[in-house]
Amino acid sequence: MAKSPNRADQAYVALKRAIIDQALKPGEKLPEDEVGALFSMSRTLVRQVFGKLSSDGLIKIGGKRPATVVTPSLDDAVATFQVRRALEREVIRLVAGRWNPQFKSVLANHLTKEVAAAGEGEQTKSIRLAGEFHILLAELSGNAILFRYVSEIVTRCSLVLAVFGRPHSAECGVLEHTEIIHALEAGDVAAASRLMDHHIGEVENRALISSVQSEQPTLAKKLELYTNVEEGGSKTTKNSKGGLRIVGSGT
Ligand SMILES: [Zn+2]
Repeated sequence: MAKSPNRADQAYVALKRAIIDQALKPGEKLPEDEVGALFSMSRTLVRQVFGKLSSDGLIKIGGKRPATVVTPSLDDAVATFQVRRALEREVIRLVAGRWNPQFKSVLANHLTKEVAAAGEGEQTKSIRLAGEFHILLAELSGNAILFRYVSEIVTRCSLVLAVFGRPHSAECGVLEHTEIIHALEAGDVAAASRLMDHHIGEVENRALISSVQSEQPTLAKKLELYTNVEEGGSKTTKNSKGGLRIVGSGT
């Protein structure tokens, strides 16, 4: 009966990543048999994987309906960012307390990857790497539990951004990450903490402001394109790529 536990682990990692990358969107159904077939797993294993993803807050299970990717409410979104801010503040405090020059090279290496991904216009990769920057910092805190919670909250933030954020908006700016590293390197805990707070606030604002905007005029906005065409005949409407405000543009 021994089905390789590795298969379940692989499926767990793959599904989690697909959710973080927003390849699987909030609300998307995950039928057990399809997932089982895709990863060559029994239903029992699929349920195990789903159980893990559910305790990560990423999917909703239960009842007769298929599992679905969680769609966070506005309240969930606000709560998620409140917790994230508190955790990240503690990360900064702990990392600053045990700072050593090796940390700098580890973080700088990661930053190089973020810059490269941004330069290549790889949105999905940029967003993922931006999240991983925070997870890496949490790892450097030396506190395994904090690391676990930060990993989880960063993942939950991806879902929040998938629902409320602008499509494909990069979660974080490379410049903001760089400033945090500089402050840590200079031993300025207060500044690093302030920068982190500001940074998370920016991520939150980007998510929640766009939700407020999209709450009322959704229908009108959608129809605007069509009504314009009818009237003027050949109005070219460019799809605003405002969401492309990626990494590197300075704050
Ligand atoms: Zn960031």
